[in-house]
Amino acid sequence: MVKNIAVIRGDGIGPEIVGEAIKVLDRIGELYGHTFNYTEADMGGCAIDKYGDPLPESELKKCTDSDSVLLGAVGGDKWNDVPGNMRPEKGLLRLRAGMGVYSNNRPAKIWKQLSEASPLKKSIVENGIDFIIVRELIGGIYFGEHKTENGVATDVLKYSEEEIRRIGRIGFETAMKRNKKLCSVEKSNVLDSSRLWKKVMHSLADEYPEVELSDMLVDNCAMQIVKNPSQFDVIVTENMFGDILSDEASMITGSIGMIPSSSLGATKCGLYEPIHGSAPDIAGKDIANPIGTILSAAMMLRFSFDMSDEADAIEKAVSEFLDEGYRTADIMSKGKTLVGCKKCGELITGYLSKE
Ligand code: NAD
Repeated sequence: MVKNIAVIRGDGIGPEIVGEAIKVLDRIGELYGHTFNYTEADMGGCAIDKYGDPLPESELKKCTDSDSVLLGAVGGDKWNDVPGNMRPEKGLLRLRAGMGVYSNNRPAKIWKQLSEASPLKKSIVENGIDFIIVRELIGGIYFGEHKTENGVATDVLKYSEEEIRRIGRIGFETAMKRNKKLCSVEKSNVLDSSRLWKKVMHSLADEYPEVELSDMLVDNCAMQIVKNPSQFDVIVTENMFGDILSDEASMITGSIGMIPSSSLGATKCGLYEPIHGSAPDIAGKDIANPIGTILSAAMMLRFSFDMSDEADAIEKAVSEFLDEGYRTADIMSKGKTLVGCKKCGELITGYLSKE
């Protein structure tokens, strides 16, 4: 198969981690007889420096013309003082909206080899952590009107029934493929948008009688994720709640550097990125963990290219890397072998094999 991938390396550690994911994809291509063509696109701080715009139309077009997009991360202190609508993160919001990817899927799964890296008590981790957060990605407060006038700042949070219904369906469909438990998270004791959210979720429940639907307020959910994470199978929630909860969920699995994500809309062209940011504090030092990006590439193969065997091969190679006792700095523990970003990518590439 021939697939065209738009590659956005971005800022900070972005170029380092994406480079390792490409090594892995190229080896998968050799093993399974696929050709992956890469088109480099600029977004974020590097695009501001080059074009004065975090996502020029030409770069967005490269992404929408591709079969899928692999992204590192964008942002950094250097661009803190640029106006709000020109910030690096604005490029990311425009990319998501431009690609129409309304459903962000973030797994929170603990690798058995990393149970000691979780900050949670052993007794909690032992019960298992394996759930998915389905987050609405192109609506809500991040996309409402933002303004500051006369010392008063306003951000608008708006959701339509249709926006809620389409992400709700993804939540139910995801639950159907797993353990058929869906927890809808909102703040319906305070927000109108959350009351609508809850109503729409329940209106969908009749279509999925096998799925057990529950409701949870977002503040309680934040607490339950650390108290009893094994209770969750699939969580579906709106944009900002999902953003915050998924960072929390990633941390209990050991490191933010391990977690991939996929974002999909109505077509197979998806956006794949690790959930962390550009980590300027460790950029250029060859110490970033590229596994979240490598696993994002695996998700791309699975969800956009229907290459499940190839995705399994990547996940198996990551598992072997951990089994052999290799660790990047963020997941390092006593008795393990510390490796840098490049070495991590090389080792995982070396463990790839065709079953
Ligand atoms: P961050 O995720 O970049 O970093 C948080 C902490 O995690 C840092 O200590 C960092 O060193 C560490 N970390 C992150 N990724 C790691 C990896 N792969 N390996 C090892 N350690 C890792 O969050 P931040 O510091 O709040 O944000 C830095 C910049 O990234 C900001 O400009 C922010 O706006 C941007 N950001 C971008 C995205 C994105 O591009 N999707 C997401 C979040 C934040």
